[in-house]
Amino acid sequence: AEEMMINSEKLSIAGQLAAGIAHEIRNPLTAIKGFLQLLRPDFVTKEKYMNIISTEIERIEMIISELLILSKPQEIHYSKTNIVSIIEEVKMLLETQAILKGVEINTEFYCENTYIYCEKNQLKQVCINFIKNAIEAMPNGGNLYINVTENREENGIFIHFKDEGKGIPKEKISKIGHPFYTTKSDGTGLGFMVSKRIVEHHEGYVEIDSELNVGTTITVFLPMEQLSFKEKE
Ligand code: ADP
Ligand code: MG
Repeated sequence: AEEMMINSEKLSIAGQLAAGIAHEIRNPLTAIKGFLQLLRPDFVTKEKYMNIISTEIERIEMIISELLILSKPQEIHYSKTNIVSIIEEVKMLLETQAILKGVEINTEFYCENTYIYCEKNQLKQVCINFIKNAIEAMPNGGNLYINVTENREENGIFIHFKDEGKGIPKEKISKIGHPFYTTKSDGTGLGFMVSKRIVEHHEGYVEIDSELNVGTTITVFLPMEQLSFKEKE
């Protein structure tokens, strides 16, 4: 129970941050949208630009809505959810950020059954954290490969987040996931811990495999269904 509390506490710290940022962005965005409407008559001959601006604003609005959903204290609700759609949604959410950093996100799904019994928003958070870490590990750009494979023997799925980033020194690997352990000047050192806890609450596990200056692979195992899922309903 104590572990659960720490987990939800950290989640709410991240959540509060996300909510704060989302509101900060939403206000100037609303202003931009308003003035753009006023400018519309001057732009009639430049409809193409106008459309691009509108589309991009809509995209930002979507991202903010997503952030706000993630940041709100959610009721924990386990349900059969398509893991592929979770990954696709998060990919869309982070794609602009990735492109700006020269990172290409490649997804490959090698499984028939992609429905797992899980808490959708929590698993989104897990994917966001691992993808962000991968992007941040590649300051000069590179590829992030997200693979999903099925493990019939263990009745679960593996998600691999494989980056081409700076890697992690061997002696540092055991520190990752300790609260507030970060090597970034603007890091919180909470993302990995929160993600690992979420996966463990799903009765899965997280593994780190890394080679310095070559890249890191984070492997997430999730069971199709938790053995104790009845308790969580
Ligand atoms: P933060 O991202 O705020 O630093 P995290 O808990 O997400 O906190 O990660 C902790 C630390 O683990 C990072 O500062 C970084 O040193 C290391 N790390 C995590 N993921 C990766 C990765 N994909 N490649 C290299 N280092 C990583
Ligand atoms: Mg992080």
